[in-house]
Amino acid sequence: MSDDFCEDIWLALIRWYRLNGRDLPWRHTNDPYAILVSEIMLQQTQVERAIIKYQEFLETFPTLQSLAAAAPADVIRAWATLGYNSRAIRLQTIAKIILTQYNGVFPSEPEQLLLLPGIGAYTAGAVACFAFKKSAAAVDTNIRRTLWRIFKGEVFKPANTPKEEYAFAQSVVPPNGDDAYLWNQALMDLGSSVCLPAAPKCDICPLINNCRAAVIARRHSLFPEDASVAPILRAAIAEESEKYIVGSQKRPQKPFRQSSRFFRGRIIHALREQPGAILLTELGPMIKQDWEEHNLSWLEDLVSGLVRDKLAIWADDLHMAATLDGASTDLLLD
Ligand code: SF4
Repeated sequence: MSDDFCEDIWLALIRWYRLNGRDLPWRHTNDPYAILVSEIMLQQTQVERAIIKYQEFLETFPTLQSLAAAAPADVIRAWATLGYNSRAIRLQTIAKIILTQYNGVFPSEPEQLLLLPGIGAYTAGAVACFAFKKSAAAVDTNIRRTLWRIFKGEVFKPANTPKEEYAFAQSVVPPNGDDAYLWNQALMDLGSSVCLPAAPKCDICPLINNCRAAVIARRHSLFPEDASVAPILRAAIAEESEKYIVGSQKRPQKPFRQSSRFFRGRIIHALREQPGAILLTELGPMIKQDWEEHNLSWLEDLVSGLVRDKLAIWADDLHMAATLDGASTDLLLD
């Protein structure tokens, strides 16, 4: 990739971002703790829902210290409505590790951040770049798709290993930390609003003249000079996506309402509403409409999973009562 080619793209995209970037609360801070909170929330939650929770969570736990010192049950309560509650506990574990093993000094390099529990390559790159202005790649789904279209001309799913993806993404990050920050944020916004998965809006894209996928699409038009590339790309994406679906032979998935994740969420919700511990025989009918006594071992397995993930504790081994981890409990006995 020539330096000039990259530079033209950086300039065009950063210029576009300065005018069109989303105003998100975590873009107003360089506090690594706040940025980590936002990134962990955004791992499995849409931006609009994360915005409200991010502000509330930071009001409840404004610092690493306050989060580390809280009862786990209170952290899970503050996480209410976001789902995937184990993220809240991981966040608290990270806060404790930074305070005890790093003397409260937040690691700033992606390689150090990767050593923390629950932090993958994307989050490590994002925190290093957004909090510490490191020239680090952050590759999420939107960014990957957008980068591959711009630089490689591939419209659908890149057949690369995560390691190869990162090496490539890193090779096109601007070397200057301030520009790297703007570049990563801009790619996110372009990927979520313009370079959409099935229907890219090439005609309003700031990179229409640089993007390799657009250049290739135009070459395939009968009228390359006047061609609007978006419909050509849409057709190519549809064709590729068809091949992928046929080729992947995916196993049919269980409907969400029958999945373990659904019931784990319901259990946490029930425990959250409960002032103390609750017997499994009482919990069962609260979370499963067609509850029957023989479902008890299924429920026990689910609660055991939550206990393993440190989201709940057994309040009393003999009576199988569960409660949110760290909640003050009055044991409920038969
Ligand atoms: S020109 Fe089209 S394919 Fe290329 S980055 Fe822009 S929206 Fe995506």
